[in-house]
Amino acid sequence: MDESPPPGPVPGQSGRGERRSLLGTYPVPAPHLVGVPLPPTPGSPSRWQPSPPPLQYGIDYTFLRQHGSRPLRWRSDLPITVRIAGPHRPEQAAAVASVVAELAGLTGLSLGSGEPWPALARPEIPAQEVHVSFLPVLPAAALFRPCTGRTGLGGAMTSPGASHYTSGLAIVATGAARPPGEVVILRHELAHALGLGHAARPNLLMYHRISPVTVEFGRGDRHGLFLLNESIPPGAA
Ligand SMILES: [Zn+2]
Repeated sequence: MDESPPPGPVPGQSGRGERRSLLGTYPVPAPHLVGVPLPPTPGSPSRWQPSPPPLQYGIDYTFLRQHGSRPLRWRSDLPITVRIAGPHRPEQAAAVASVVAELAGLTGLSLGSGEPWPALARPEIPAQEVHVSFLPVLPAAALFRPCTGRTGLGGAMTSPGASHYTSGLAIVATGAARPPGEVVILRHELAHALGLGHAARPNLLMYHRISPVTVEFGRGDRHGLFLLNESIPPGAA
């Protein structure tokens, strides 16, 4: 037999929604939620943004040359003029001006584009200048060998005894320019001309082989370009 009492009013409570006291009966408040409903998955990982991992020299960026423990750089107190040398089309001149402005913003260097140089002037590039050429094929005797592809080359030079780069060079091989095209090669080679080396991550623009899908400077590329300005305060890196 079931000995439990039959269901009925709880002592002290007259019925559903009412409670009895010495002063009479009063309603029992029904529980209800206040405010906005909780998201379906509270604490889901998508709500937590981890801080990006620190950038590492040798993986995310490198420099072409080191001067002691510091990268060899251009002087930050002198203007650097970038000129097209040799035959080119108007849209190539526009591309150079655009990439130069982009790199000036990323490095903080006083980088500007100048009037075209009438002819290929290598190797006597004037001081504080970078010359850009668009050639069907790269010259056989490459001055710089950082790039394993045949899409372009770029680098910076220093004078004997000088502690900074004094001139630079960037060549875009127009015959090798497949998608994403000449502008991307120009970004890569002009970054070399400012002193940036190759990165180890294939999704960066400074990877040694330019990918058809990587068209913009990535986080590591931008960090390396930022460090090429010697006027940044120590510790800002
Ligand atoms: Zn390269």
